Amino acid sequence: MLGSIDYTSGMIRNDTDIHKKLTQRLVAWYKKNKRDLPWRHTNDPYAIWISEIMLQQTRVDTVIPFYERFLKTFPSVEALAQSPLSSVLKAWENLGYYSRARNLHAAARVLVERFGCKIPDDPHELLKLPGIGTYTAGAIASIAFGRAVPAVDGNVRRILCRVFAIHESTGDPEVLKALESMARTLVPEKNPGDFNSAIMDLGATLCRPKAPLCPSCPLESLCQARLLGLENELPVVEKRGKIPHRYGVCAMVFDDKARLLVVQRPSTGLLASLWKLPGGFSLNKKDMAGDLVREVNKELGIDIRVGEKIGSVDHVYTHFRLTLFAYEALWIKDSPSGAPIICHGCQDFRWASAKDLETLAFSRVDRMILSHLP
Ligand code: SF4
Repeated sequence: MLGSIDYTSGMIRNDTDIHKKLTQRLVAWYKKNKRDLPWRHTNDPYAIWISEIMLQQTRVDTVIPFYERFLKTFPSVEALAQSPLSSVLKAWENLGYYSRARNLHAAARVLVERFGCKIPDDPHELLKLPGIGTYTAGAIASIAFGRAVPAVDGNVRRILCRVFAIHESTGDPEVLKALESMARTLVPEKNPGDFNSAIMDLGATLCRPKAPLCPSCPLESLCQARLLGLENELPVVEKRGKIPHRYGVCAMVFDDKARLLVVQRPSTGLLASLWKLPGGFSLNKKDMAGDLVREVNKELGIDIRVGEKIGSVDHVYTHFRLTLFAYEALWIKDSPSGAPIICHGCQDFRWASAKDLETLAFSRVDRMILSHLP
């Protein structure tokens, strides 16, 4: 038994010899097969921290060019802390999950103020920094500093559930705790970073969520799921409920110099501080134009006349699916309210030239909608 749960289906989990074999085979396999990734050519804790944050919920291939550009633009903790948040968000544009960029920036300032610009090697200290959770703390501490701590993410959980034929749902907090403790027993004192990287690579290349490539796996003869023919059934994952589909509307309003009206989102909430076209959610799909007039008025205090629909884009966020429609619109300056632009629901607004649009940071969806500009 490992942790507090008795996984009665497995027969090997108490066997320290098997644990040792598993660790040795994984690390030997990793030495021959590891993926050649830019952050594996450095011991710099700063670079490893940046890579781990970028890799959260993002594919390796997507991360590589962002990682290289980011390190050129912000080569050290000091450089990152001294830069304005707007530059960090711009460097993050299109990478998604923008709270990661805001947290990196905030954490760099904490590192300058409280840690003498040094990344701490203690996972408990790392956990105090914005944007660092248990997995990331374990990954940085083991890879950058050789601390024998686990880094348990979805890949590791999947592999452990298969190797030890765990039939309980990974949605159960008790099971998660037991998997964490199981991983802790497996991490070797020597080269723990290699072990954690090896298990990440195994999950990314062979022990994939669907159709694992067991015949090529270094753990095949130890793997209980494989021995029981359950490699495609495990782990047991509870199905997520259907996420809601929401509709958004935004306005393309130009001034007499052909500049586009854009607004900066509030400093908290989804996509905080990024720029966008004025607008908001549509409550009534049947009257999108009416919704757009209301949302722009709420945001900027002005009245608009809505014209032709210009285009639409679809995007899936973690908690909802969005279809965003863009409309041509005219600012009615002689409307009864006759109000000048005042930011009620935004931080700032700007009449943006084509060059401004390149330098401001927009989310992927807003960039996509801008590609419909007439
Ligand atoms: S044998 Fe198959 S299921 Fe088991 S760890 Fe290897 S790839 Fe995963």
